[in-house]
Amino acid sequence: CSSDGEAPCARLAGEPTFRPRAHASHKGSFGDVAILGGDQGMTGAAVLAATAALHGGAGRVFLALLDPRPPSLIEPWPELMLRRPEQLALEHLTIVCGCGGGDAIRTHLARVLAQAPRLVLDADALNAIADDAALGTLLTQRSQHRLATVMTPHPLEAARLLGLSTAVDVQADRLAAAASLARRFQATVVLKGSGTVVASPNEVPTINLTGNARLATGGTGDVLAGMIGAALASGLPALQAAQGEVWRHGAIADAWPHDKPLTAGALAAT
Ligand code: AMP
Ligand code: MG
Repeated sequence: CSSDGEAPCARLAGEPTFRPRAHASHKGSFGDVAILGGDQGMTGAAVLAATAALHGGAGRVFLALLDPRPPSLIEPWPELMLRRPEQLALEHLTIVCGCGGGDAIRTHLARVLAQAPRLVLDADALNAIADDAALGTLLTQRSQHRLATVMTPHPLEAARLLGLSTAVDVQADRLAAAASLARRFQATVVLKGSGTVVASPNEVPTINLTGNARLATGGTGDVLAGMIGAALASGLPALQAAQGEVWRHGAIADAWPHDKPLTAGALAAT
């Protein structure tokens, strides 16, 4: 088994180690996360990512919604701080970009890709990159500047990024698809679905064994993006943050009572 992406090989992901909080730590020790997404009709996706980042232990969480007149969805979470997208000091933040972003996310992506030191790219941010080669180049250049990036495509988003016509083409060889995206964009890639694959350039990919079909419900991907954002903000390297949070996300679903449906909101708050 080698890491060159030629052979279809992988390791099974292990349980992440517990991250203790030092006694003398303060909120600055755990980093600031900003969620950039949530266009009209999809603000819930960004709120889910934000609440997941909060429960994931981020020091502070900012929520920058793209919808100029959002419904008052955030009242239950006074911990969240609302900002306009253009107000974010990108160079100081861990950015989770794209959840419910629609086409409006495209206005902000070039700046985010160039400036955010730690970045999670999900959903419409990935679709925008698939459509625009210049954004893809900016993404690839991030690794040269030692900027950390995690991409979290589901199979259809991965297909668009790879220029394949359907998700079936990705599902036919998930290891190869994830490794190919990681090489192409020089980023850590989380290819979601049953047996989530985590791939990073020059690393052997891992297959995650936690999780089950109760996660097949709207918003659980947004929750994962927020969880990975919190782990990145705490100072973990991209690969470790991605592997650990994919494991935790699935483990919550595995521990969920069998007679109780799992919602993304409940997953975020666990
Ligand atoms: P998204 O497609 O962006 O909404 O993300 C869905 C999330 O649920 C991802 O983390 C998937 O890995 C997870 N998921 C969906 N269906 C399953 C399944 N059948 N088994 C395990 N995980 C799943
Ligand atoms: Mg999604």
